Amino acid sequence: MDDARGTAVYAANLGWRDVPLRALLSERLGGVPVALGHDVRTGGLAEGRIGAGRGADRFLFVPLGTGIAGAIGIDGRVEGGAHGFAGEIGHVVVRPDGVPCPCGQRGCLERYASASAVGEAWAAASGDPAAGAADCAGAVAAGDPAAVRVWREAVDALAAGLVTALTLLDPRTLIIGGGLAEAGETLFTPLREAVARRITFQTQPSIVPAALGDTAGCLGAGLLAWDLLNPTDRTEETS
Ligand SMILES: [Zn+2]
Repeated sequence: MDDARGTAVYAANLGWRDVPLRALLSERLGGVPVALGHDVRTGGLAEGRIGAGRGADRFLFVPLGTGIAGAIGIDGRVEGGAHGFAGEIGHVVVRPDGVPCPCGQRGCLERYASASAVGEAWAAASGDPAAGAADCAGAVAAGDPAAVRVWREAVDALAAGLVTALTLLDPRTLIIGGGLAEAGETLFTPLREAVARRITFQTQPSIVPAALGDTAGCLGAGLLAWDLLNPTDRTEETS
């Protein structure tokens, strides 16, 4: 997604390549201005401005779901990068020469710490093919040693990826969302400890759960539209 040009550069699920979606929509709607945003960055915009990162001048939003993505928040807007790929923390390599990723690299963070990866690891360890990440979190809370091993591995990989990101970006607030974050303190307590163990000179950001859930994307789309019509209001809202 190239947010600035309003182009859907590549959408694997929809089979789109270089679709000038903003122009097409605006034309079909009789010239109404249209804002277009990448789903995770748009959700991140909402979390940063009116959700868990409210008031943070620099934040990083990382949803842990089927995969792992990221939104880099700077002064009330989200950085998309030169080509629309900024924030793809799920494909930061945390285990060199590790398991293959569909992106073509090996050892990507999302192969170890997404809700899907944790679910798969726990299904294999527990012998229950239907078990998912939430079942693993429940077993961890109940003190199951096999679940604790699976969980620890995921948290360790996640901390490695996040420390790379915070070394580069120095965010004030790190917002973790998606299915895995629903584990609450079962995730956040060991994650804060694992990040604290790894950092040396960096300042540990506050690590908090996302606040807006599934509505973040819709709220963020509303904010994009708001900004489009009121470009000068933005700084006021973040203060
Ligand atoms: Zn990858």
